[in-house]
Amino acid sequence: MSYEDDLYREIITDHSRSPHNKGRVDPADFVAHDHNPLCGDDVEVSGRVEDGRIVDIAFQGKGCSISQSAASIMTDLVKGQELEQANAIINSFKVFMMGKGEPEIPIEDLGDLEALGGVKKYPVRIKCALIGWNTLLKGLLDYRKAHAQ
Ligand code: ZN
Repeated sequence: MSYEDDLYREIITDHSRSPHNKGRVDPADFVAHDHNPLCGDDVEVSGRVEDGRIVDIAFQGKGCSISQSAASIMTDLVKGQELEQANAIINSFKVFMMGKGEPEIPIEDLGDLEALGGVKKYPVRIKCALIGWNTLLKGLLDYRKAHAQ
């Protein structure tokens, strides 16, 4: 095992043991939920939006350490971001994880997210890393639909 693998494992373990922004935003402008029957991951993401910016976000649920740490890292990254920027972060992470094309935002600019790159070696775990992100995407889509002019 390489030094990098160790480092990545440590970041993932830290986030899954002490998740950031765990719980539910109340009142929330969007709440979305997703479930991965393959490994029992269950994630709910809730958030509040003001002036086109995610001012608060939280997640709760249960599942493997990868799903929980990826959701924790996600809340850190998108909190305070404009919706458009949040979408760019989500899409960049998905491109990075799927290994298709160049992410719009280089992964090294996205903090602890790079640690999840180690997961790419295990294709069935990619779903675990993405569940929180796909749930947020769903929540933001619902929000946009509800607030479309
Ligand atoms: Zn999982």
